[in-house]
Amino acid sequence: MSKMEFSEEFDFENRIVDVSEIPEDAADGDNPLRPKTLDDYIGQDKVKENLKVFIEAAKIRGESLDHVLLYGPPGLGKTTLAGIIANELGVSVRITSGPAIEKPGDLAALLTNLNQGDVLFIDEIHRLSRAVEEILYPSMEDFAIDIITGKGQMAASYHLPLPKFTLVGATTRAGQLTAPLRDRFGVVLRLELYSPEELAQIVTRSAGILGIKIVHDGALEIALRSRGTPRIANRLLKRVRDFAQVISDGIITAESAKTALDRLEIDELGLDRNDRRMLEAIIRFYNGGPVGVETLAAAIGEEAVTIEDVYEPYLLQIGFLSRTPRGRCITAEACRHLGYDFPKGISNAMPVQPNLFNE
Ligand code: ADP
Repeated sequence: MSKMEFSEEFDFENRIVDVSEIPEDAADGDNPLRPKTLDDYIGQDKVKENLKVFIEAAKIRGESLDHVLLYGPPGLGKTTLAGIIANELGVSVRITSGPAIEKPGDLAALLTNLNQGDVLFIDEIHRLSRAVEEILYPSMEDFAIDIITGKGQMAASYHLPLPKFTLVGATTRAGQLTAPLRDRFGVVLRLELYSPEELAQIVTRSAGILGIKIVHDGALEIALRSRGTPRIANRLLKRVRDFAQVISDGIITAESAKTALDRLEIDELGLDRNDRRMLEAIIRFYNGGPVGVETLAAAIGEEAVTIEDVYEPYLLQIGFLSRTPRGRCITAEACRHLGYDFPKGISNAMPVQPNLFNE
């Protein structure tokens, strides 16, 4: 099979383990599965402990919370945490994203509409334009912005004081933030992929909210195939429910979860056809690697950033890929899982510790 035919077999549009948010994730825009308090937020214990202290301290001092940067792969709960921070502080949250703030004026409008102590959440903050960043710095530091109107001799500059707000920024890569922006966050927290046991708790909690009957083994089966990501776990829960209604009296058991997920072609490690084909491309076209991410992206018809942000974190975590200075390499475990011989001559020497967010 040629690389072209190979890439055409990918089904990126309908990827059930896609980590990006799709409308079915959020019923009427207000997702009932999102925890509202830190106590309801499962896992990420280190992050929660730190946040608890900072929130408590800010409340005692009667001040706004320091700006918070959250980083980690998509679907791990960054937006959810921003809402929780606002809720715990008893303030409102405004949600936007880097690409949505096109001009400095857009940011100025957002900032001047905030109330004292409010949380402004900017998702994908690494995608802010330089011009917008320039007015974000003084607003984070001095809680004021300078706006220039008119041109030439008619130009006038206004100094606008802002309410003291808390910026919560989210990014998939802290390393892509400019240094001056990164330095203005007092609190920097990294979210990790969730353990199967934590995901099983999330699935059980979500099932309770949605009125779905589930036994622990059923929740664990879904958890094991959710790539460490709550957004995927919740989505699989809804798909498995449909199967359970037909095959096991509406109760999600290990058996019905297994049958459903097998039918959806999500294997026992949570890999779908696209993961398997990407790994196979490395084995078949590049003799197991090393292959640069751009080359691999071109071969499978996917964007390099998607490979890095969406595919790789989990594949690195389960030890199916390694990063070397010369590119990505397949591992013996991945070959075993896919039923291939480990390619001869492949060197897994000098693997670089996965350091996903600081490149
Ligand atoms: P991100 O902003 O990192 O992409 P979200 O905050 O949108 O991720 O989370 C995706 C979904 O996963 C949320 O709708 C929420 O239901 C669920 N979720 C995320 N983190 C948790 C958690 N710690 N406990 C329970 N549910 C969670």
